[in-house]
Amino acid sequence: MSVLRAVRMLLSLRCEESTRIMSDDYEREISGIERWAVRLHFISCRACRRFRRQIAFLQQAARTHLQFSTILPAERRDRIARRINGD
Ligand SMILES: [Zn+2]
Repeated sequence: MSVLRAVRMLLSLRCEESTRIMSDDYEREISGIERWAVRLHFISCRACRRFRRQIAFLQQAARTHLQFSTILPAERRDRIARRINGD
């Protein structure tokens, strides 16, 4: 990522990009610039702070449900748990 693009991302991240990066964080290693851009965006955006709490809640709920679920075979539960945990 170019320096100019990094600075622009840090200073003008929009909600669509912010939520995409937060979602991506569960599926891939996001860059330091992306992480800081989202943190700066949080200062002025209540909606994205709320979105972050909601996806964290959903991830925890999925993790807890999976832990106690007996519907799925253990192998599938383990595979899904690894996916949720980003292993
Ligand atoms: Zn936002």
